[in-house]
Amino acid sequence: MRSACYLPKLLVYGAAQFAPFEGDALMTDRIIDFLAERRREGRDNGPCLVVDLDVVRDNYLGFARALPDTRVFYAVKANPAPEVLSLLASLGSCFDTASVVEIEQALAAGASADRISYGNTIKKERDVARAFEMGIRLFAVDSEAEVEKIARVAPGSKVFCRILCDGSGAEWPLSRKFGCAPEMAGAVLEHAHRLGLNAYGISFHVGSQQTDPRKWDGALQSAATIFRDLAERGINLQMVNLGGGFPTKYLKNVPAVKSYGNAIFRALSKHFGNRIPETIIEPGRGMVGNAGMIEAEVILISQKSKSDTEMRWVYLDIGKFNGLAETMDEMIRYPIRTPVDGSPVAPCVIAGPTCDSVDVLYEKQPYDLPISLEIGAKVLIEGAGAYTTTYSAIGFNGFPPLETFVI
Ligand SMILES: *Cc1c(COP(=O)(O)O)cnc(C)c1O
Repeated sequence: MRSACYLPKLLVYGAAQFAPFEGDALMTDRIIDFLAERRREGRDNGPCLVVDLDVVRDNYLGFARALPDTRVFYAVKANPAPEVLSLLASLGSCFDTASVVEIEQALAAGASADRISYGNTIKKERDVARAFEMGIRLFAVDSEAEVEKIARVAPGSKVFCRILCDGSGAEWPLSRKFGCAPEMAGAVLEHAHRLGLNAYGISFHVGSQQTDPRKWDGALQSAATIFRDLAERGINLQMVNLGGGFPTKYLKNVPAVKSYGNAIFRALSKHFGNRIPETIIEPGRGMVGNAGMIEAEVILISQKSKSDTEMRWVYLDIGKFNGLAETMDEMIRYPIRTPVDGSPVAPCVIAGPTCDSVDVLYEKQPYDLPISLEIGAKVLIEGAGAYTTTYSAIGFNGFPPLETFVI
């Protein structure tokens, strides 16, 4: 039985290859034990994600320590598992939501409506109305048309305007889809003020998996300029929403959350002087990424020709359509551990199980896996707590959505 391969835990999985760093919780014994038990019970018929709530708790407390004067609005889309939301609600977290269903999920987890923002800049008017009925009073906008919807059906609410932000330095940059040019934000907020809304602040997102803590500086400079311009017109903004972007560790080390806190505090002082506004952050990936690990299975290892130089193709039972959508364009490179880590490796192509030819995870930049890896082996995909379950299709090719356990 291969289950024996999981013991003695970290040693077998070659922890030495991945140097630990501050705040790191790459994998936890609790997850390893859970998976071993699942195997013993013969329930390991497909890939699954296991999320360790202790790691989520540590991450929340890490954000609270690194940014002590900032309120945390967890970005629900990263992982809306009810247990994750309930834990965060009990720790005092607020929630950033993007739809009526996410609002309902946050409310069901025990958050009151005054701890929930509707942070999507693209909302149907009837969804804004529904949110207002549920007590939501904080909305994101990036256009005058969106302001008008909110003024009509959510009168008197607070609105913050999202500005465009160059996503350089991020491994998962967010395009120009959200936000307006900083020069336009003043007009959007002035429009809100004129229509009786509370022009409350500015938001931005520096790009997901942002590995450079200095990237908040430019956006904060723009925000401070907008604060000053509007103050001259009699509108006093109060809040800067610093967005998400805090990274989780995949193959490469990332700076600790403390570095982000320090860099953000320096940038706030530099641009706002002694009139630092109220701030909020919206971590998604940084809150849950390292709390989850996927166990998957090698279905096939083959070559496309008999040539010795031909690369191996390793097919897993998980791919782009049942959890690993963020391998799109090979942007997120997950650490993958095998039972034979530490033995000689060779580059290979890694692909998923479905019959869609885009279901290839790593090919342009092949991935080193042990030569002795065998068909049937279980592999562990780390840093998989964010943006996996929610990106999993409901049954493409008959493969079920990614099974999740929260422990
Ligand atoms: C997705 C999202 C986040 C979370 O981003 P991460 O990079 O996962 O931290 C935060 N805010 C908004 C508005 C988002 O859409």
